[in-house]
This record gives sequence, C-alpha cells and structure tokens, in this order.
Amino acid sequence: MSGLAPQSIAIIAHDHCKDDAVAWVQRHQQALSALHLYCTGTTGGRIADAVENLDVTRLLSGPLGGDQQIGALAAEQKLSAIIFFIDPLTAHPHDVDVKALIRLAIVHQTPLALNMATADAVLAHLVSQD
Ligand code: PGA
Repeated sequence: MSGLAPQSIAIIAHDHCKDDAVAWVQRHQQALSALHLYCTGTTGGRIADAVENLDVTRLLSGPLGGDQQIGALAAEQKLSAIIFFIDPLTAHPHDVDVKALIRLAIVHQTPLALNMATADAVLAHLVSQD
C-alpha cells in the first residue's frame, strides 16, 4: 500500500504495556515519522509526549470506544497495520472490544502485531515497501 499518502498504522497499548510501547516508538522513531499513527487516547498521549514530530491522531481511550474506532478503520481498509501491545496478565472491562478489534483485523487482512517481536517484523516490512 505505497503511494503519495503516508501509510497509516494504529498503535494501542494496555496500561502495563505503555512503557514498552513508548520505548518501541522511540526505537523506531525514524521509520514511524514517515507514517500516520492512529492511537487510542492514553497511548497516543504518552507517545506524543515522549517523541516529537510524529503525526499522531488520538482517538478515544480504549475502554471508551477507541479500540472500536480502530476496528472501524481496519474495516474501511485504512490501516496498513495494527500494533496492539496487549497485557496478557490483567483482566480488562473492554475485553469484548479487544476481541472485536482482533476479529476485524482477521476479516480485513490487516497485519496485526500483538507483541514486540512481531511489531518489529511488521514495521520492517512496511518500511521495505516504500
Ligand atoms: P488507552 O486505551 O490507550 O486509552 O489506554 C488502550 C486500551 O486499553 O485499549
């Protein structure tokens, strides 16, 4: 999906994963500066505070609908990838939203990274296409 418009990816991190998500963004700052980022509210705030010059759209916080908004973007084929740092050790009140987002990524063939190793691989693939 290369072209004149920058590719868009979504980044979401559960609370215990936000430090890791920020560290991942800092590590990949250069590659991410060429992309448009959609983030759930708190994740996007942390990323925008930590890294300058990124093109970040902050959606609603995940539990308030942000995961669903990202699912809608996937359904509209507007995302080249979703990076979702899920906390596997904590129960979440919006677990159904998380499940719905994963389902839509599967349905619409949106690359979906659920851990750091896969996020690295997906980003490397996107960058190699430009
Ligand atoms: P947040 O949402 O970035 O607003 O914390 C993430 C989530 O829990 O889905």
